[in-house]
Amino acid sequence: MINPGTLLQTLAQVIRDNADELTDLDQAIGDGDHGVNMRRGFDAVAEMADELNALDPGSALQKAGMTLVMKVGGASGPLYGSLLMTGGKSLGSDPGVNDMAAALRSGIDAVCRRGKAEPGDKTMLDVLLPVSKTLEACVANGDDPAVTLAAVRQAGSQGLESTRDMLARKGRASFLGERSIGHLDPGARSAQLIIEAVCQALGAKP
Ligand code: ADP
Ligand code: MG
Repeated sequence: MINPGTLLQTLAQVIRDNADELTDLDQAIGDGDHGVNMRRGFDAVAEMADELNALDPGSALQKAGMTLVMKVGGASGPLYGSLLMTGGKSLGSDPGVNDMAAALRSGIDAVCRRGKAEPGDKTMLDVLLPVSKTLEACVANGDDPAVTLAAVRQAGSQGLESTRDMLARKGRASFLGERSIGHLDPGARSAQLIIEAVCQALGAKP
């Protein structure tokens, strides 16, 4: 099992490496703070790595989620916070792939309840939902881990790309109406970066 604090540190590094891109994307259709927001939140989580490594994975995600709510701010902070807090609650202490799929699903349900966005609204959900569906399908098929990880990564990339032609219906980007078309959604990009990094970490597991 990967140490949860170490995994979250890796995610923080990925967010740091891509913060300028997230900010650029948010400058195009929002207020240009998504990179800064996410970096602030994940840096705070990374600082808690030792504490999180002492917890079981589910509890660590819950704790990290609370920190994201407090530190990220904006629309995305409470949404990523809900994802991790609710997902962590159902993840348990020694999760297998079934538990991960169920935890992701319950975390996404919490994001939907909180943000009231639907598929196609040009948000992080346009990455998270196809990823979750793909993971559930792989679990139901009994696919081996390498096949599952590849399918999940592809679902994340395709989901991200699908936001380009969408008209934003939620969050600040929705104020732009038609002018939101033609740009990737910043929250979809951060979600895809996170999915990609988690898959890489799980794939590299000895
Ligand atoms: P803010 O919009 O308050 O400046 P951020 O820039 O940090 O917050 O985050 C913007 C991202 O949050 C969007 O790109 C979108 O993916 C996501 N988002 C905004 N509103 C919602 C919502 N209601 N449901 C799901 N995701 C949302
Ligand atoms: Mg913003």
